[in-house]
Amino acid sequence: MPFACKNFRATFLFMLISFGLLTYQPMNPVKAYGEKEILLINLGIPALKAAYKADRQGKPILKSVIQALFGGYIMYQGFKIAPRIETEPAWRAWQAKLMVNFGASLAESAGGRFVFRMDMGPVWLIADQGKIRFKPGLNAVVAPIIHFAEGSRLNWKNTLKYGTFAFERSSRRDGTLNKSGALAYSNANTFTTNKNGNHAGHELIHTFQYRRAAIDWPNIGDLLPEAKKQIGDGWVDDTNWSAGWGLQCAWADMMGKSKDFDIPMEKEAYYLERKYLKPY
Ligand SMILES: [Zn+2]
Repeated sequence: MPFACKNFRATFLFMLISFGLLTYQPMNPVKAYGEKEILLINLGIPALKAAYKADRQGKPILKSVIQALFGGYIMYQGFKIAPRIETEPAWRAWQAKLMVNFGASLAESAGGRFVFRMDMGPVWLIADQGKIRFKPGLNAVVAPIIHFAEGSRLNWKNTLKYGTFAFERSSRRDGTLNKSGALAYSNANTFTTNKNGNHAGHELIHTFQYRRAAIDWPNIGDLLPEAKKQIGDGWVDDTNWSAGWGLQCAWADMMGKSKDFDIPMEKEAYYLERKYLKPY
């Protein structure tokens, strides 16, 4: 079996297992999202992936798993800061972003050499063996174009504060921003709020999910080896978040659930807000 084909099957299987674990609720279908799911997504899945990668490459499995767990733990600490970030100074938002990106880099480097990768708006900063490079991300370049096309304006103050493209648009009389009734919304690592930046904390969680998706979900290059060749080395294939979100929305449609409240990505954001919005 060619390597690409084996890789595709493994990726697909991994994706199904992750999704099954996240949506499986045997006793109570309306059970709230909890600490178990948080540990699974931040530590469990990165550890599983690290073990698989280390095994395939003949590297020590336990060492890789410990590194992934440690990375996942740091990532989670970054996520915890996001819910109440609207009233915090910019350095705190950058601290959260650095923690998520450092933790994710540690976890995804398990079983190989350490490479630090951080998304910063449309580009990714990649530090590998002392060399720093910037590469555009496929999804990260397209997302701001969509926000501009919708008539949103870049909010420079929030962009600098959150370290990612933050847009604003005028709210309608009922406080919503668009036809679908959203008070704020995100796309990959960009988000749009009203002029006051309300709900930026919730949307920042979604942008952190975009970074973590590089571990949780396959990208288009994993699924289509031909696309991987076309994308080449000049771009970061950051389509993982779209793959994960698209799959979760398809699941919601099939099960008659709400894409805005019932999918795991939203449940996680609301859970973190409920738990960490108040100062601790
Ligand atoms: Zn949301």
